[in-house]
Amino acid sequence: SLIRVFFSMYNFFSDTQTRPSRAMRESILDAEVGDERHDDCPTTRALNNRVAELFGMEAAVFLPSGTMCNEIAIAVHCLPGDEVICERESHVIFAESGGPAALSGVMMHGIDGQRGMMTSEQVTTAIRPNSSFAPQSRLVITEQTANLAGGSVWPLDQLNAIAKVSQEAGLAVHLDGARILNAVVATGISARDYAKDHDSAWLGVTKGLGCPVGGVLAGSAEIY
Ligand SMILES: *Cc1c(COP(=O)(O)O)cnc(C)c1O
Repeated sequence: SLIRVFFSMYNFFSDTQTRPSRAMRESILDAEVGDERHDDCPTTRALNNRVAELFGMEAAVFLPSGTMCNEIAIAVHCLPGDEVICERESHVIFAESGGPAALSGVMMHGIDGQRGMMTSEQVTTAIRPNSSFAPQSRLVITEQTANLAGGSVWPLDQLNAIAKVSQEAGLAVHLDGARILNAVVATGISARDYAKDHDSAWLGVTKGLGCPVGGVLAGSAEIY
């Protein structure tokens, strides 16, 4: 049928099915290499610097997966018993095997947003007052684009307002940017503008780009 022909030509299952192109494999073969462990691999360093620059942050580190970027960021920002505020359908809640609880001992405070996106007012309401009884609200996570919502793009104002109220309340803000460059292409707004007032942010290379593994986590030099 026509439908079958259409789906044999175009695969909309997921951008996770993308594969490394020949050009990418050739450039991997030809890449200059060094001791990455001693920060002495020029190719890895160039990638890290490029992503730090894209986000307007001090430093970045290549990690084997996007999940590691999120989980390490949570561990860096939080202490056990802390609470993390994010949209209810965030990747950190629905697709990381309970990693925030298992690895960092944090509680997740999921907010019912619209199309995967919460508002700064909802974040303000979710931040708990300091109390020896309540968990400490410590971190807010945004996700550009919103995966489970079909890739909706957070408006810049909404994202910036969340980062601002969180920062003013003394919370850290982390951007899960697995597909942030999709938003950049769609709107022409830079990753740096989307990541404004965030403490850490990462972008994925395995989805649209089709790299075999990886994500690059950016933040302060101290985090690095
Ligand atoms: C895919 C994805 C991740 C995890 O990235 P992996 O490289 O598959 O571990 C995290 N967050 C979002 C929004 C994603 O789409």
